[in-house]
Amino acid sequence: MTKKNENEEIAALCGDFMMDTYAKTATVVRGKGCRVWDARNSVYLDFTAGISVHNVGHAHPKVVEAIRAQAETLVHCSNLYYTPQQGLLAQKLSSIGLGGKVFLCNSGAEANEAMIKLARLHGHAQGRYEIICMKNSFHGRTMATLSATGQSKVQKGFDPLLAGFEFADFNDLDSVKALVNERTVGILLECVQGEGGVIPATPEFLKGVRALCDEKDLLMMCDDIQCGMGRTGTWFAWEQYGVKPDVCTLAKALGGGLPIGALLASPKYSDVFVPGSHGSTFGGNPLACAASLAVIKVIEEEGLLAHAAEFGKLFMEGLQQFVENYDAILEVRGMGLMVGMVVDGNAKDIVDNLRVGGLLACMAGPNVVRFLPPLCITEKDLEEALEMIGDTLDEMFGGDAEEDEDAEDAG
Ligand SMILES: *Cc1c(COP(=O)(O)O)cnc(C)c1O
Repeated sequence: MTKKNENEEIAALCGDFMMDTYAKTATVVRGKGCRVWDARNSVYLDFTAGISVHNVGHAHPKVVEAIRAQAETLVHCSNLYYTPQQGLLAQKLSSIGLGGKVFLCNSGAEANEAMIKLARLHGHAQGRYEIICMKNSFHGRTMATLSATGQSKVQKGFDPLLAGFEFADFNDLDSVKALVNERTVGILLECVQGEGGVIPATPEFLKGVRALCDEKDLLMMCDDIQCGMGRTGTWFAWEQYGVKPDVCTLAKALGGGLPIGALLASPKYSDVFVPGSHGSTFGGNPLACAASLAVIKVIEEEGLLAHAAEFGKLFMEGLQQFVENYDAILEVRGMGLMVGMVVDGNAKDIVDNLRVGGLLACMAGPNVVRFLPPLCITEKDLEEALEMIGDTLDEMFGGDAEEDEDAEDAG
């Protein structure tokens, strides 16, 4: 038997002792900027960025320094006490977000749990608890958030699901209106559906949902966990539509890699929770908050919002050539640096081949290749990625022009 190399040893160790919840592929031991390395020092251009986590890049010196300094001072403190980092982060999120108060937790699913609980608590006295969710959405893996997720593959085998979630068609306002009744308390959506295939909401739909919420006194609830933190070119994706939700959630990129999530509320819904309503041991712990404050500062100092908007446009324009050149590539869509390439067939083969070629991308449903690069990508990174994608597609689909010639020869 041949001796395992370092990558294979790590994969075998994880395979033997970790529950098999993810179809893992490459091994990663180190990251810097837009790149990660495996245990044999092979480099990958990381266009997954921890699934929209490393928006400021891996190991940003200012984030590293903030984590180091906070780790030396106070890593954790019970939520029975005040810590400055929490207050400062909540203040910052309030000022860039909804102008009200913030609840801090540790993950996206937890932030959405908090958002669902807030809506239910608000509606409780009037017997309102139903939340209208969208088909094809994704909100997390806990029982409440998977019950709110409009994808049967996430829910399969876990029934009975939590009651009180109804499903409308994304981008179809009439289908939402048809579900509103005296029990409805809110409407929950992602402005750009991530796991569902990188599908932006239409402006008419989002504006219509806002108007409907105003008319029927419902909470507009936005899940900005994947599309927030500058990913689409603004702090929150809803900014681009000129609407403001009543509550929204952040996680993923919020902590620059440390686990943290947040529920933001407008002033009207800022005092729904009272002592004892909700809580979390680690929620907003000083270490995660310090990292988060550093991440936000880096995004501001480096102008990454405008950069994401500009480079997203360049990237999508670059990808568009593949739609023209290959029958197998159907469409490029997205917003800012949240980009999906829709393929005729299985996106997994492309993702696998890209990885072998040195580019990490992920899937969003069976037929969409999803690119979520760090927001700090340079022109050179972008060119390199487009070249790798071009080479991979060329290898897989041969260039349609050449194919035609071959066909003629064969004929
Ligand atoms: C990733 C994600 C979640 C869940 O976040 P976790 O931190 O994995 O719990 C929820 N909503 C959206 C839109 C996401 O992309």
